[in-house]
Amino acid sequence: MNTHQRNIQASVDPVRLDRLAEVAVKVGLRLERGQDLFLTAPVVALPLVRRIVEHAYRAGAGLVTPIFSDEEITLSRFRNAPEESFDRAPGWLYDGVAKAFSANTARLAIVGDNPMLLSNEDAGKVARANKANSVAYQPALEKIAGFDINWNIVAYPGASWARQVFPDDSEEVAVAKLADAIFAASRVDGDDPIGAWAAHNAALKKRTEWLNGKRFKALHYSGPGTDLTIGLADGHEWQGGASSAKNGITCNPNIPTEEVFTTPHARRVEGHVASTKPLSYQGTLIDKIAVRFEEGRIVEAKAARGEAVLAKVLDTDEGARRLGEVALVPHSSPISASGILFFNTLFDENASCHIALGQCYSKCFLGGASLTPDEIAAQGGNKSLIHIDWMIGSDKIDIDGIAGDGSRIPVFRKGEWA
Ligand code: ZN
Ligand code: ZN
Repeated sequence: MNTHQRNIQASVDPVRLDRLAEVAVKVGLRLERGQDLFLTAPVVALPLVRRIVEHAYRAGAGLVTPIFSDEEITLSRFRNAPEESFDRAPGWLYDGVAKAFSANTARLAIVGDNPMLLSNEDAGKVARANKANSVAYQPALEKIAGFDINWNIVAYPGASWARQVFPDDSEEVAVAKLADAIFAASRVDGDDPIGAWAAHNAALKKRTEWLNGKRFKALHYSGPGTDLTIGLADGHEWQGGASSAKNGITCNPNIPTEEVFTTPHARRVEGHVASTKPLSYQGTLIDKIAVRFEEGRIVEAKAARGEAVLAKVLDTDEGARRLGEVALVPHSSPISASGILFFNTLFDENASCHIALGQCYSKCFLGGASLTPDEIAAQGGNKSLIHIDWMIGSDKIDIDGIAGDGSRIPVFRKGEWA
């Protein structure tokens, strides 16, 4: 490690970093005694990985297996690998990961690299590599999306990510600012982060219980560029905050999280909607998206920036043009109030109401754990290789809940819970 790297690491407060590691293990994963843990991280996040591994073993973890990625190694592939290699992915590795999940291994993902890393690389190669990766990852991803095991995502303020978010600051200042933002959003600023998360989970639970009691048939969104009716899946269930995996562990998959969310009906979405924040999708920024739905399917799609990438995404498979998630987040959420665009869905989706193209979550159905894929599809659940969240909320959006008898109840007014 050189002096520069030492200075960068010094801009990340070790006390709050340790609290974040503890929250990841005790709130995010709620790792059980004897449970194995599979962990992926960028090499820049090594200081956090070390803290997490220590907390995991102290909590009784069986075996912790980390796998690291590196920005320069990733770029090296796109610049030097043979053309014909971009349809390949390490399927053997993903098969092993799926096998580990089947054996009740918990999953932790740390994000921290520059989300725009691949923005200057060949878009065709990036799309092919992403698709090959999605296909190889599918068996493992199904176990995550189906919530077979406890899993969690947390963030570390990598220097290249920080420079992307705060381009006008020196690297050290940018890292310190991104670290502060991550710690605040992850609720580890106070002395009792475990208690803070218990209170936050209770508040989110109240919202989901209200929505589940109402059993809305659809949500209607109105605002600038938006007049959209999203039918909800039959037997949908709202979720938020902590939730129970099929292995019996109640965990907090996303840190941070501000959303309550459920499954829309893949064939009952009508109208048009405009994005309110740019979407950073695997290295490309897609901005000012405007789409129109007919019978659940996107029939028109435009974007002021990244339109070609958006078009490719929508052509991934049949389900890529349909919705798999609808989520409510008040405009006053702490992440939205920070005013920071993180270029990372884990943060940006928690700043705003959003919808997701692609795969639905089976846990967002009543009794979802015992439904077959065919039953989920029959109830309106969408299936796809992708799951991409994009933001449609702002302080100008009104949302009504439409009940079974057609009556309307205000849910959001001017971006806040009504
Ligand atoms: Zn979401
Ligand atoms: Zn999502």
